[in-house]
Amino acid sequence: MDGVSTPLRCFNEYHSAEMLVDDGVETVTSVEQKKVERSIKEVISVYKQMHSLPEPTLLREQHYQYLKKGLRHLSDAYECLDASRPWLCFWILHSLELLEEPIPTAVASDVCQFLSRCQSPTGGFSGGPGQHAHLAPTYAAVNALCIIGTEESYNIIDRKKLLDFLLSVKQPNGSFVMHVGGEVDVRSAYCAASVATLTNILTPKLFEDTATWILSCQNWEGGLSGVPGLEAHGGYTFCGTAALVILGKEHMLDLKALLRWVVSRQMRFEGGFQGRSNKLVDGCYSFWQAGLLPLLHRALFKEGESELSRRRWMFEQQALQEYILLCCQNPGGGLVDKPGKSRDFYHTCYCLSGLSIAQHFGNMDLHHEMILGEEENRLAPTHPVYNICPEKVSKALQHFHQLPLPDDSRQPGPPAPDHLQS
Ligand SMILES: [Zn+2]
Repeated sequence: MDGVSTPLRCFNEYHSAEMLVDDGVETVTSVEQKKVERSIKEVISVYKQMHSLPEPTLLREQHYQYLKKGLRHLSDAYECLDASRPWLCFWILHSLELLEEPIPTAVASDVCQFLSRCQSPTGGFSGGPGQHAHLAPTYAAVNALCIIGTEESYNIIDRKKLLDFLLSVKQPNGSFVMHVGGEVDVRSAYCAASVATLTNILTPKLFEDTATWILSCQNWEGGLSGVPGLEAHGGYTFCGTAALVILGKEHMLDLKALLRWVVSRQMRFEGGFQGRSNKLVDGCYSFWQAGLLPLLHRALFKEGESELSRRRWMFEQQALQEYILLCCQNPGGGLVDKPGKSRDFYHTCYCLSGLSIAQHFGNMDLHHEMILGEEENRLAPTHPVYNICPEKVSKALQHFHQLPLPDDSRQPGPPAPDHLQS
């Protein structure tokens, strides 16, 4: 269906159907699955009783208040994220940009100053001031600084040292460790590729053999695991695929097997996605899994696949919007994994990011919206590779690609790659 959808078309198709019938063999996971289905059925029946018009609403103002407060004050529940503080900046700033809420200049400047204190003397960013550099907060910090998108924010990044840090975590087989002396997994390749392209420090040597290593993480299921030989997982599959898109090597994946795996992760009753086979639905996979569909759509288009839609992704976009709007919103602001769970900034960011993917088809040239409910529910589009708004990606690429590569200051930088602009 095109244009603004008939309200809750999927509501009728999915949620008013009886819960799924399984093979009748009771296991720990089948019991948990039934519990989740019952809780969702309950949410829907309460919703139907309370609302005459069956259109779920995005609690825009409540989310805004929750996010705004989080930039200045966190409860002690966040103490365990003391080594992930740039992530909190990214999760909140990206959620705000999706809601099209401007960041006040003074707040933006304070975030810049805080992130500059997280930059390590050895290059890259750490989880908090005085900690060791790590690829995950490096990705989060660079994304946050690109969302702010000012001279002040761009100038914080020491590109020469960032390249030194990336080279220090590169392994001879093409993989990356998350930090010096740390573990290898496919997240690190994505974090490195993302920051290297955004800031224009990508040298051929930096990603030598990386694509081959990532490809070895695709397993018989069709998805990718964290390291070769393990179970396919949504987060790792997104990271591996997005890294290959950045490196221009995504065609080397078995794209059809990957497509089959990811579309099978959208839950038939719940409408949201699970992270792995036989697991429960979780709001954060609204991005990690649904975000793969734009990447796959473009990859298959480049391969000459002729039967691709020009109006919608290859997943049930309305059902995902229903799951997020009905089951993942905390009435006081913030979004959650599933009904009954508490809110946090991670799930807020990735539920909203997934909602944005489900609302917007296409890129800057070809764009088609499918908004469930009122126009008020509309979020800004997000870039499916970097997960920041596309105009912020373009602005950062334009800024950094005017600068020379840090390893050879006599040469101007290469032009920004076209396929990453939108
Ligand atoms: Zn989650």
